[in-house]
Amino acid sequence: MQEDNFETIAIRLQAERSQHKEHSVPLYLTSSYKFDDAEEMRALFANEKEGNVYSRYANPNTSELIEKMAALEGAEDGWATATGMAAIFTTFAAFLGNGDHVLSSRSVFGSTHQLLSAVFPKWGITYSYADLDKQEQWIEGIKPNTKMIFVETPSNPGIDIIDLEWLAKLAKQHNLLLVVDNCFATPYLQQPIKLGADISIHSATKFIDGQGRTLGGIILGTNKLMRIIEGFARHSGPAMSPFNAWLMSKSLETLAVRMDRHCDNALKVAEFLESHAKIKKVMYPFLPSHPQYAIAKKQMKQGGGIVTLVIDGGVAAAGAFMNKLKMFSISANLGDTRSIATHPATSTHSKLTEEERLQVGIEQGTIRLSIGLEHIDDILRDISQALD
Ligand SMILES: *Cc1c(COP(=O)(O)O)cnc(C)c1O
Repeated sequence: MQEDNFETIAIRLQAERSQHKEHSVPLYLTSSYKFDDAEEMRALFANEKEGNVYSRYANPNTSELIEKMAALEGAEDGWATATGMAAIFTTFAAFLGNGDHVLSSRSVFGSTHQLLSAVFPKWGITYSYADLDKQEQWIEGIKPNTKMIFVETPSNPGIDIIDLEWLAKLAKQHNLLLVVDNCFATPYLQQPIKLGADISIHSATKFIDGQGRTLGGIILGTNKLMRIIEGFARHSGPAMSPFNAWLMSKSLETLAVRMDRHCDNALKVAEFLESHAKIKKVMYPFLPSHPQYAIAKKQMKQGGGIVTLVIDGGVAAAGAFMNKLKMFSISANLGDTRSIATHPATSTHSKLTEEERLQVGIEQGTIRLSIGLEHIDDILRDISQALD
């Protein structure tokens, strides 16, 4: 039998209805569940029977979101967390222990860098960085105690890319877990597990919610790996709230149409900026000038909604540009219907030293644009007047 397509799964994979036969899945705001009798309670706790026990473990809304995300990404199972960082923390904490080493892309979300450099060393977990565009650094970076490879591709905010099929082969050769932060691409544009990764992580706060309302994280992988995640998460408690899961599952129904428009708009912005005299550099995966354009074309459906630019004139010029924007919001978020401008050096990546920032391509004049769903003419007009 032919399987349903992405858009159909995103809309039609839903939790069972109650006796009221709602067309839209209801919100199950309940912390716990009733047992028919003492025997059912015993059997559920003994894992002899499937069913809901307590919402820190599972809830119909979070289960629906997980099942849908897993189906969209080609994973066997998943786990939902309160935030994207909770998903990353849970994954590190569930698989790593004293003496283990993580080889990570140098380009990572600011808080992921803080986890690796300030939190996990307290528990004897070490890390080192490799650049996404330098294959030899990955080969040479693997140590006898390396247990996990962690990458963000495309990276935030540098938009660097690595060949996931190549990296997955390297990880397999050395028996390492390959974990991918797939936040920028979403399951619609890139499916790391199908390319050989073991685990794919999302900050669902971004394009999955897509409207800047809620926080959430998702971890996806095989049943076997997810039982290890479950073993850690059930007892440490990073669970996603049923309300957020309900909202995000509804959001997934429009993911494909939203991403198509985000990507169309972003490509037009990238092309416009590339031809502008005041712009030093533009990074967008589907611009032929991107150093890893061929890899982006191979592993991504489209280029995504984020365009990173470097403006001539450093921090002063970046500030002047941002202050002149009339429609764009100045905010640290991304993946919203509304277009957003961020200055990474003074916000999301302000905890890095200047040298560390330069190593991941963040200059004083770097601005990250999250291109929204407003009309493209209005987006371009706002950018154009702010540059003049
Ligand atoms: C935002 C973000 C995170 C963290 O997600 P939260 O939901 O804010 O905790 C992790 N990785 C990337 C790439 C992000 O953009």
